[in-house]
Amino acid sequence: MAARVIDGKAVAARVRERVRAEVAGMETPPGLATILVGEDPASAMYVRMKREDSAGAGIESFHHEPGGEVSQAELAELIESLNADRRVHGILLQLPLPGHLDQDPLIAAIDPAKDVDGLTPLSAGLLAQDRPEAFAPCTPSGVIELLREAGAELEGARAVVIGRSILVGKPLATLLLRANATVTHCHSRTRDLGAVCREADVLIAAAGRPGLVSGEMVREGATVIDVGTNEVDGKLAGDVEFDSVAERAGAITPVPGGVGPMTRAMLLANTLRAARRQL
Ligand code: NAP
Repeated sequence: MAARVIDGKAVAARVRERVRAEVAGMETPPGLATILVGEDPASAMYVRMKREDSAGAGIESFHHEPGGEVSQAELAELIESLNADRRVHGILLQLPLPGHLDQDPLIAAIDPAKDVDGLTPLSAGLLAQDRPEAFAPCTPSGVIELLREAGAELEGARAVVIGRSILVGKPLATLLLRANATVTHCHSRTRDLGAVCREADVLIAAAGRPGLVSGEMVREGATVIDVGTNEVDGKLAGDVEFDSVAERAGAITPVPGGVGPMTRAMLLANTLRAARRQL
């Protein structure tokens, strides 16, 4: 194996430590409100981990579990009350919501100043306009932080992003453009994906298709970031065929232990940023 493995856990630990040190010097701690609706065990686990991360960084946690039967109006009311609560600087509405709820208007109801998940339409618009106050979603922000830590040169680099979701692919392409990369955006209709990928100095797979990227699709020395999280035979697997790609790449993220920890760490960084602006 030639590639250097980028240790997302170590980079995430450094981000968390930076946040913790800054929070320790603040008179008023940042506050993060989490809202968990329904019984989905994965969602419950994610929220628990986010609250633990917050506690570790000195961020005050305000947790709400309104119950799986909560109505659209009640949930909207809860979000409004958190928008008005001066102790709360960031609001995280854990998705997906149960089927009887209409997700989009509830996300849009979050005050953009508290949108630490970067999912409101206003945040997406601000990001597209390169406005400094925009919150980018945590996964693409984490990818950019990982690339920086890995020493990847983005200025003028050819970056290929596979995936165009609102949560990952689109904001990531915007952030790469902002870093002056030349960005090519691929999706399920892209013709000859391998040929496009082979052009990349930086290749990011965010398709949710295990093994989509194999060694022959990667240019010698490229930096490869695997965002995918797929369950294969009861185990977590990325979108990248690790062994064959590591033969050719210069640097690569593992799954698990690559982008995942960064997503959590960037929520803390965004919450700190939100608090700094509101305090
Ligand atoms: P998504 O909404 O399902 O979007 C997947 C994207 O991949 C779509 O744009 C789709 O193209 C494209 N795609 C699917 N199959 C393809 C193929 N064969 N060739 C090229 N493109 C293809 O998923 P997402 O929310 O962006 O998440 C992507 C992956 O990242 C998932 O595995 C998810 O679990 C993971 N993820 C990980 C983290 C983390 O913290 N590690 C966070 C978020 C997501 P079309 O638009 O044409 O359909």
